[in-house]
Amino acid sequence: MSALNERPSAWVAGLKLRCPQCGQGELYQGYLKFRERCRACGADFKSADSGDGPAVFVILIVGAIVAPLLIILQYGLDLPGWLALTITMAAAIALCLALLPPFKAVLFALQWTHKAGEATRQDVE
Ligand SMILES: [Zn+2]
Repeated sequence: MSALNERPSAWVAGLKLRCPQCGQGELYQGYLKFRERCRACGADFKSADSGDGPAVFVILIVGAIVAPLLIILQYGLDLPGWLALTITMAAAIALCLALLPPFKAVLFALQWTHKAGEATRQDVE
């Protein structure tokens, strides 16, 4: 069995920013824009939509990191407020930009692996 026939772990494929079907092809063509198809296996990514999920997880994680950081900088290290806030905002922006691509890729890979799709009214009735 070739490597293309084995589906990789959704977590591994997502964290490596690779196709969730084959684990080989690059998932992104831009910073957060998925390719239309996998260049290795041809999997169709046009219907990929992880919605607001990645941003929500990233906000929660980054907030949990930078809020204590601000308190430590301002009260622990006794930095001036403007400097502590500047450092904290820079850290927040950098962390958000760094974490969004892997989180979006992991959520998309989990959706792909579990064949999750939009629920429709017909699904409920
Ligand atoms: Zn692929």
